[in-house]
Amino acid sequence: MSRYWSPFVHNLVPYVPGEQPKMPDLVKLNTNENPYGPSPRVNEAIAGQLGDGLRLYPDPSSDALKGTIARYHGVRSNHVFVGNGSDEVLAHIFQGLFGHGKPLLFPDVTYSFYPVYCGLYGIEPKPVPLDDDFRIHPDMFQGECSGIIFPNPNAPTGRLLPLSDIETILKAHPDVVVVVDEAYVDFGGETAIGLVDQYSNLLVTQTLSKSRSLAGLRVGFAVGHPDLIEALERIKNSFNSYPIDRLALAGAIAAYEDEEHFQSTRKAVMAERSRVTEGLEALGFRVLPSSANFVFTEHPDHEGADIAGHLREHGIIVRHFNKPRIGNFLRITIGNPEQNGRLLATLGDILKRFD
Ligand code: PMP
Repeated sequence: MSRYWSPFVHNLVPYVPGEQPKMPDLVKLNTNENPYGPSPRVNEAIAGQLGDGLRLYPDPSSDALKGTIARYHGVRSNHVFVGNGSDEVLAHIFQGLFGHGKPLLFPDVTYSFYPVYCGLYGIEPKPVPLDDDFRIHPDMFQGECSGIIFPNPNAPTGRLLPLSDIETILKAHPDVVVVVDEAYVDFGGETAIGLVDQYSNLLVTQTLSKSRSLAGLRVGFAVGHPDLIEALERIKNSFNSYPIDRLALAGAIAAYEDEEHFQSTRKAVMAERSRVTEGLEALGFRVLPSSANFVFTEHPDHEGADIAGHLREHGIIVRHFNKPRIGNFLRITIGNPEQNGRLLATLGDILKRFD
């Protein structure tokens, strides 16, 4: 706190990112990173930019990357907006498309950045309750609003909403922008990108941080009607004229050129998710059905915070949210087979000691 701060800064409630501890040998299952590395082609592409390439500014409009994403998803380049991670893309969406005197609707259990951006951009947040099984229902979004946003699959629950329900939401709210945040869609969901031609109020965001294993590069994008994309470009060009650096541009494009790596790593994560789910259930945990690269789970007899604390003592970190409704739950990222084996074995030991 400082007397030099504006009241606006005093009142900001910033996002608290998942920990990035520096300890070696840690089983890090707390921030939904991909346990498998990116395609080797990414490294080669980045290496090709080093040296003299760094002298030059990157392409301010990231045309080559937009073209790559557009081709991959069967849309035109003017349907695509790119940014430094989907967090930045979401920031521009909140600033440019939501607010104007009406609240923003999102599920009460969801990505914690949404209320933070509401605070940053003066938007009234209106969380709407999920059902008892943490499911989104299309009719839960009611009343006047300036927009709707939800992840699909949702985070931290992992639960998936079918495309038919997304269409119901889009049809019920034709006058506001509906954002489907597909950060985790490649682990078992179905993208809504195919609907953007039909619904001019739909904006779909994705990231290369999860299924493409490039969290360190910070690349995300939105796909939607060119009018919505134009709004985001205006904001971007008033904020940061070179949003994606040369290394990230080259690496991101290369990631799309290795479909085989993408398919095999995402399938490996999904197979491990089944193993982790079965292992947790065998230990008495309740595990919500997940279409993401994490599971959301609670034990009926033990506090989530206690379990997380004991795991940490054994060098395994998972995410525990100290929040209403989900205070007993843990969000556990799917690791590689060895990490998941260590997780399950350690949980078995911890539960035995509790008994
Ligand atoms: N949306 C959701 C639902 C997320 O969980 C995350 C990751 N924290 C993001 C967006 C942002 O991802 P990134 O900025 O790495 O693209």
